[in-house]
Amino acid sequence: MRAQPFFLHRPADLATAIALKAEHGDAATFHAGGTELLVALKAHVLRYEHVIDIKRIPGLKGVRLRDDGTISIGSLTTHDSIANDPVIRASLPGYAELSEHVANIRVRMAGTLGGVLCFAEPHADAPTLLCALDAWVVLAGPNGEREVPCRDFHLGEFATARADDELLTSIEIAPQSAGTRSAYRAFGHTERPAVGVGAVWSTDNPQRLSLWAGAIAACPTRLARAEEAAASLDAGLPAEEIWRRLRPAVDADARALDAHDDLHGGADYKRHLVSVLAERALKACLP
Ligand SMILES: Cc1cc2nc3c(=O)[nH]c(=O)nc-3n(C[C@H](O)[C@H](O)[C@H](O)COP(=O)(O)OP(=O)(O)OC[C@H]3O[C@@H](n4cnc5c(N)ncnc54)[C@H](O)[C@@H]3O)c2cc1C
Repeated sequence: MRAQPFFLHRPADLATAIALKAEHGDAATFHAGGTELLVALKAHVLRYEHVIDIKRIPGLKGVRLRDDGTISIGSLTTHDSIANDPVIRASLPGYAELSEHVANIRVRMAGTLGGVLCFAEPHADAPTLLCALDAWVVLAGPNGEREVPCRDFHLGEFATARADDELLTSIEIAPQSAGTRSAYRAFGHTERPAVGVGAVWSTDNPQRLSLWAGAIAACPTRLARAEEAAASLDAGLPAEEIWRRLRPAVDADARALDAHDDLHGGADYKRHLVSVLAERALKACLP
Protein backbone atom coordinates (compact mmCIF):
# COMPACT_ATOMS: atom_id res chain seq x y z
CA MET A 1 0.00 0.00 0.00
CA ARG A 2 1.07 3.59 -0.54
CA ALA A 3 0.96 6.27 2.15
CA GLN A 4 -1.77 8.89 1.88
CA PRO A 5 -0.39 12.13 0.37
CA PHE A 6 1.19 14.57 2.85
CA PHE A 7 3.10 17.87 2.82
CA LEU A 8 6.80 17.23 3.46
CA HIS A 9 8.58 19.97 5.44
CA ARG A 10 12.36 20.03 5.67
CA PRO A 11 13.27 22.62 8.31
CA ALA A 12 16.93 23.65 8.52
CA ASP A 13 16.86 24.48 12.23
CA LEU A 14 15.32 23.31 15.49
CA ALA A 15 13.16 26.41 16.10
CA THR A 16 11.44 26.04 12.70
CA ALA A 17 10.78 22.33 13.28
CA ILE A 18 9.17 23.03 16.66
CA ALA A 19 7.15 25.96 15.25
CA LEU A 20 5.86 23.75 12.40
CA LYS A 21 4.74 21.08 14.85
CA ALA A 22 3.04 23.67 17.08
CA GLU A 23 1.32 25.17 14.02
CA HIS A 24 -0.06 21.88 12.62
CA GLY A 25 -0.64 20.03 15.93
CA ASP A 26 -2.06 16.50 15.60
CA ALA A 27 -2.01 16.75 11.80
CA ALA A 28 1.81 16.73 11.83
CA THR A 29 4.56 14.37 12.92
CA PHE A 30 8.37 14.34 13.02
CA HIS A 31 10.26 12.03 10.67
CA ALA A 32 13.79 10.88 11.57
CA GLY A 33 15.01 7.64 9.92
CA GLY A 34 11.45 6.66 8.97
CA THR A 35 11.93 2.96 9.80
CA GLU A 36 8.79 2.87 11.98
CA LEU A 37 6.94 5.89 10.65
CA LEU A 38 6.97 5.03 6.93
CA VAL A 39 5.80 1.47 7.59
CA ALA A 40 2.91 2.78 9.70
CA LEU A 41 2.01 5.41 7.07
CA LYS A 42 2.07 2.89 4.24
CA ALA A 43 -0.07 0.44 6.24
CA HIS A 44 -2.51 3.32 6.94
CA VAL A 45 -2.11 2.65 10.67
CA LEU A 46 -1.11 6.33 11.03
CA ARG A 47 -2.09 9.27 8.86
CA TYR A 48 -0.66 12.81 8.92
CA GLU A 49 -1.19 15.76 6.58
CA HIS A 50 2.24 17.17 7.46
CA VAL A 51 5.48 15.26 7.89
CA ILE A 52 8.40 17.23 9.33
CA ASP A 53 11.71 15.69 8.28
CA ILE A 54 14.20 16.62 11.02
CA LYS A 55 17.32 15.11 9.40
CA ARG A 56 18.66 18.48 8.14
CA ILE A 57 18.69 20.08 11.59
CA PRO A 58 22.32 20.60 12.59
CA GLY A 59 23.70 19.36 15.92
CA LEU A 60 21.35 16.38 16.39
CA LYS A 61 23.74 13.71 15.05
CA GLY A 62 26.70 12.00 16.69
CA VAL A 63 28.20 11.24 20.09
CA ARG A 64 29.94 13.92 22.15
CA LEU A 65 31.95 13.61 25.36
CA ARG A 66 31.13 16.64 27.49
CA ASP A 67 33.80 18.31 29.67
CA ASP A 68 32.37 16.67 32.84
CA GLY A 69 32.53 13.21 31.20
CA THR A 70 28.82 12.98 30.37
CA ILE A 71 28.19 11.16 27.08
CA SER A 72 25.72 13.05 24.92
CA ILE A 73 24.12 11.14 22.01
CA GLY A 74 22.28 13.27 19.45
CA SER A 75 18.75 12.01 18.84
CA LEU A 76 19.44 11.47 15.12
CA THR A 77 22.39 9.15 15.80
CA THR A 78 21.71 5.77 14.19
CA HIS A 79 22.14 2.44 15.96
CA ASP A 80 24.98 1.64 13.54
CA SER A 81 26.82 4.89 14.40
CA ILE A 82 26.45 4.14 18.12
CA ALA A 83 27.77 0.60 17.62
CA ASN A 84 30.88 1.97 15.89
CA ASP A 85 31.44 5.13 17.91
CA PRO A 86 34.87 5.20 19.63
CA VAL A 87 33.54 6.95 22.78
CA ILE A 88 30.73 4.40 23.22
CA ARG A 89 33.02 1.47 22.46
CA ALA A 90 35.57 2.66 25.04
CA SER A 91 33.21 3.79 27.82
CA LEU A 92 30.12 1.60 27.35
CA PRO A 93 31.12 -1.50 25.37
CA GLY A 94 27.89 -3.23 26.49
CA TYR A 95 25.86 -0.50 24.80
CA ALA A 96 27.95 -0.74 21.61
CA GLU A 97 27.29 -4.50 21.59
CA LEU A 98 23.54 -3.94 22.06
CA SER A 99 23.48 -1.51 19.11
CA GLU A 100 25.34 -3.99 16.90
CA HIS A 101 22.47 -6.47 17.35
CA VAL A 102 19.45 -4.21 16.81
CA ALA A 103 17.14 -5.58 14.08
CA ASN A 104 18.98 -5.85 10.75
CA ILE A 105 21.56 -3.78 8.89
CA ARG A 106 18.91 -1.68 7.08
CA VAL A 107 17.21 -0.65 10.33
CA ARG A 108 20.56 -0.07 12.09
CA MET A 109 21.79 2.21 9.28
CA ALA A 110 18.62 4.38 9.16
CA GLY A 111 16.92 3.96 12.54
CA THR A 112 17.83 6.51 15.19
CA LEU A 113 18.03 6.38 18.97
CA GLY A 114 15.56 9.28 19.24
CA GLY A 115 13.16 7.38 16.99
CA VAL A 116 13.16 4.17 19.02
CA LEU A 117 12.63 6.12 22.26
CA CYS A 118 9.82 8.32 20.89
CA PHE A 119 7.97 5.55 19.05
CA ALA A 120 7.88 3.56 22.33
CA GLU A 121 7.23 0.17 20.78
CA PRO A 122 7.88 -2.02 23.85
CA HIS A 123 9.96 -4.61 21.93
CA ALA A 124 13.11 -2.51 21.83
CA ASP A 125 16.60 -2.88 23.28
CA ALA A 126 18.16 0.51 24.05
CA PRO A 127 15.46 1.84 26.43
CA THR A 128 16.12 -1.02 28.90
CA LEU A 129 19.87 -0.44 29.18
CA LEU A 130 19.43 3.35 29.22
CA CYS A 131 17.11 2.96 32.24
CA ALA A 132 19.69 0.77 34.00
CA LEU A 133 22.37 3.39 33.23
CA ASP A 134 20.12 6.12 34.70
CA ALA A 135 20.33 8.10 31.45
CA TRP A 136 18.06 11.04 30.66
CA VAL A 137 16.63 12.67 27.54
CA VAL A 138 16.58 16.34 26.57
CA LEU A 139 13.34 17.61 25.02
CA ALA A 140 13.06 20.95 23.20
CA GLY A 141 9.69 22.65 22.79
CA PRO A 142 8.14 26.09 22.31
CA ASN A 143 8.91 26.94 25.98
CA GLY A 144 12.55 25.86 25.90
CA GLU A 145 14.34 22.69 27.01
CA ARG A 146 13.65 20.20 29.77
CA GLU A 147 15.23 16.96 30.93
CA VAL A 148 13.37 13.72 31.69
CA PRO A 149 14.99 10.59 33.18
CA CYS A 150 14.67 7.62 30.79
CA ARG A 151 13.08 5.78 33.74
CA ASP A 152 10.12 8.21 33.58
CA PHE A 153 10.01 8.69 29.80
CA HIS A 154 8.01 5.64 28.73
CA LEU A 155 4.47 5.70 30.09
CA GLY A 156 3.04 2.70 28.25
CA GLU A 157 2.88 1.07 24.81
CA PHE A 158 3.49 3.84 22.25
CA ALA A 159 3.15 6.47 25.00
CA THR A 160 5.87 8.75 26.37
CA ALA A 161 6.27 11.84 28.57
CA ARG A 162 7.15 13.90 25.45
CA ALA A 163 4.61 16.64 24.80
CA ASP A 164 3.23 16.62 21.27
CA ASP A 165 5.15 19.76 20.26
CA GLU A 166 8.47 18.67 21.81
CA LEU A 167 11.38 17.26 19.86
CA LEU A 168 13.84 14.89 21.55
CA THR A 169 17.28 16.43 20.94
CA SER A 170 19.72 14.24 22.90
CA ILE A 171 20.20 11.33 25.27
CA GLU A 172 22.66 11.93 28.12
CA ILE A 173 24.59 9.32 30.13
CA ALA A 174 26.49 10.42 33.25
CA PRO A 175 30.15 9.33 33.55
CA GLN A 176 30.52 5.83 34.97
CA SER A 177 33.08 5.24 37.73
CA ALA A 178 36.08 2.96 37.15
CA GLY A 179 34.38 0.26 39.24
CA THR A 180 31.17 0.22 37.19
CA ARG A 181 30.39 -2.21 34.37
CA SER A 182 27.25 -2.59 32.31
CA ALA A 183 25.83 -5.27 30.04
CA TYR A 184 22.66 -6.16 28.14
CA ARG A 185 21.35 -9.55 27.10
CA ALA A 186 18.27 -10.23 24.99
CA PHE A 187 16.51 -13.10 23.28
CA GLY A 188 13.78 -13.23 20.67
CA HIS A 189 12.31 -15.29 17.84
CA THR A 190 11.57 -12.29 15.59
CA GLU A 191 13.76 -9.33 14.64
CA ARG A 192 12.62 -7.62 17.84
CA PRO A 193 13.51 -8.83 21.35
CA ALA A 194 10.99 -10.96 23.29
CA VAL A 195 12.81 -10.02 26.50
CA GLY A 196 15.93 -7.99 27.28
CA VAL A 197 17.74 -7.38 30.57
CA GLY A 198 20.13 -4.50 31.25
CA ALA A 199 22.50 -4.63 34.25
CA VAL A 200 24.85 -2.04 35.73
CA TRP A 201 27.04 -3.30 38.56
CA SER A 202 29.14 -0.93 40.60
CA THR A 203 31.76 -2.26 43.04
CA ASP A 204 32.21 1.21 44.52
CA ASN A 205 31.29 1.71 48.15
CA PRO A 206 28.32 1.24 48.53
CA GLN A 207 28.11 -1.65 46.08
CA ARG A 208 25.15 -1.11 43.75
CA LEU A 209 23.19 -3.07 41.14
CA SER A 210 20.81 -1.50 38.66
CA LEU A 211 18.78 -4.24 36.93
CA TRP A 212 15.98 -3.64 34.41
CA ALA A 213 13.85 -5.92 32.22
CA GLY A 214 12.46 -4.68 28.92
CA ALA A 215 10.19 -5.78 26.04
CA ILE A 216 8.24 -8.10 28.36
CA ALA A 217 5.88 -5.40 29.70
CA ALA A 218 4.63 -2.10 28.27
CA CYS A 219 7.68 -0.19 29.62
CA PRO A 220 11.12 -1.17 30.93
CA THR A 221 10.69 -2.34 34.54
CA ARG A 222 13.10 -2.19 37.46
CA LEU A 223 13.88 -5.54 39.14
CA ALA A 224 13.74 -3.90 42.56
CA ARG A 225 14.00 -6.97 44.82
CA ALA A 226 17.22 -8.02 43.09
CA GLU A 227 18.67 -4.52 43.42
CA GLU A 228 17.89 -4.50 47.15
CA ALA A 229 19.37 -7.97 47.67
CA ALA A 230 22.56 -6.92 45.86
CA ALA A 231 23.10 -3.98 48.22
CA SER A 232 23.54 -6.30 51.21
CA LEU A 233 25.95 -8.77 49.56
CA ASP A 234 29.52 -8.99 50.82
CA ALA A 235 31.97 -7.33 48.44
CA GLY A 236 34.28 -9.63 46.49
CA LEU A 237 32.09 -12.75 46.34
CA PRO A 238 32.68 -14.96 43.29
CA ALA A 239 30.24 -14.52 40.41
CA GLU A 240 28.54 -17.90 40.91
CA GLU A 241 27.91 -17.15 44.58
CA ILE A 242 26.53 -13.68 43.78
CA TRP A 243 24.10 -15.22 41.31
CA ARG A 244 23.11 -18.00 43.76
CA ARG A 245 22.18 -15.38 46.36
CA LEU A 246 20.41 -13.02 43.95
CA ARG A 247 18.44 -15.60 42.01
CA PRO A 248 15.44 -15.90 44.41
CA ALA A 249 14.96 -12.12 44.27
CA VAL A 250 15.29 -12.05 40.45
CA ASP A 251 12.76 -14.91 40.16
CA ALA A 252 10.35 -13.05 42.46
CA ASP A 253 10.77 -9.87 40.38
CA ALA A 254 10.16 -11.85 37.19
CA ARG A 255 6.98 -13.44 38.59
CA ALA A 256 5.62 -9.97 39.38
CA LEU A 257 6.15 -8.62 35.84
CA ASP A 258 3.07 -7.63 33.85
CA ALA A 259 3.74 -10.12 31.03
CA HIS A 260 1.21 -11.35 28.46
CA ASP A 261 1.05 -14.22 25.96
CA ASP A 262 1.80 -12.86 22.49
CA LEU A 263 3.68 -13.74 19.30
CA HIS A 264 6.97 -13.37 21.22
CA GLY A 265 6.01 -16.21 23.60
CA GLY A 266 3.87 -17.18 26.58
CA ALA A 267 3.96 -14.99 29.69
CA ASP A 268 5.54 -17.72 31.86
CA TYR A 269 8.16 -18.48 29.23
CA LYS A 270 9.11 -14.79 29.03
CA ARG A 271 9.30 -14.53 32.84
CA HIS A 272 11.66 -17.53 32.77
CA LEU A 273 13.75 -15.71 30.13
CA VAL A 274 14.11 -12.75 32.50
CA SER A 275 15.97 -14.97 35.01
CA VAL A 276 18.15 -16.55 32.31
CA LEU A 277 19.06 -13.18 30.79
CA ALA A 278 19.56 -11.50 34.18
CA GLU A 279 22.13 -14.19 35.07
CA ARG A 280 23.95 -13.62 31.76
CA ALA A 281 23.87 -9.82 32.00
CA LEU A 282 24.97 -9.82 35.62
CA LYS A 283 27.84 -12.26 35.07
CA ALA A 284 29.00 -10.17 32.10
CA CYS A 285 29.37 -7.23 34.52
CA LEU A 286 31.29 -9.13 37.19
CA PRO A 287 35.08 -9.23 37.20
C1 LIG B 1 11.84 -4.69 11.17
C2 LIG B 1 12.25 -3.92 12.40
C3 LIG B 1 12.95 -4.57 13.39
C4 LIG B 1 13.32 -3.89 14.54
N1 LIG B 1 14.03 -4.55 15.53
C5 LIG B 1 14.48 -3.87 16.60
C6 LIG B 1 15.29 -4.50 17.58
O1 LIG B 1 15.66 -5.67 17.48
N2 LIG B 1 15.68 -3.77 18.65
C7 LIG B 1 15.32 -2.46 18.79
O2 LIG B 1 15.70 -1.83 19.77
N3 LIG B 1 14.57 -1.83 17.87
C8 LIG B 1 14.14 -2.50 16.79
N4 LIG B 1 13.39 -1.88 15.85
C9 LIG B 1 13.01 -0.49 16.09
C10 LIG B 1 14.08 0.47 15.58
O3 LIG B 1 15.02 0.64 16.62
C11 LIG B 1 13.37 1.75 15.23
O4 LIG B 1 12.61 1.45 14.05
C12 LIG B 1 14.24 2.94 14.91
O5 LIG B 1 15.24 3.23 15.84
C13 LIG B 1 13.30 4.16 14.84
O6 LIG B 1 14.06 5.29 14.50
P1 LIG B 1 13.67 6.17 13.23
O7 LIG B 1 14.65 7.27 13.20
O8 LIG B 1 13.55 5.34 12.00
O9 LIG B 1 12.23 6.69 13.69
P2 LIG B 1 11.04 7.20 12.76
O10 LIG B 1 10.38 6.04 12.11
O11 LIG B 1 11.50 8.32 11.90
O12 LIG B 1 10.10 7.80 13.89
C14 LIG B 1 9.45 6.96 14.82
C15 LIG B 1 8.54 7.83 15.70
O13 LIG B 1 9.29 8.65 16.57
C16 LIG B 1 9.03 10.04 16.33
N5 LIG B 1 10.35 10.70 16.40
C17 LIG B 1 11.49 10.29 15.79
N6 LIG B 1 12.53 11.04 16.18
C18 LIG B 1 12.01 11.98 17.03
C19 LIG B 1 12.59 13.04 17.78
N7 LIG B 1 13.91 13.29 17.75
N8 LIG B 1 11.79 13.79 18.56
C20 LIG B 1 10.45 13.54 18.62
N9 LIG B 1 9.85 12.52 17.96
C21 LIG B 1 10.62 11.76 17.17
C22 LIG B 1 8.37 10.12 14.96
O14 LIG B 1 7.47 11.22 14.89
C23 LIG B 1 7.65 8.78 14.89
O15 LIG B 1 6.41 8.86 15.58
C24 LIG B 1 12.99 -2.52 14.70
C25 LIG B 1 12.29 -1.87 13.68
C26 LIG B 1 11.92 -2.55 12.53
C27 LIG B 1 11.18 -1.81 11.46
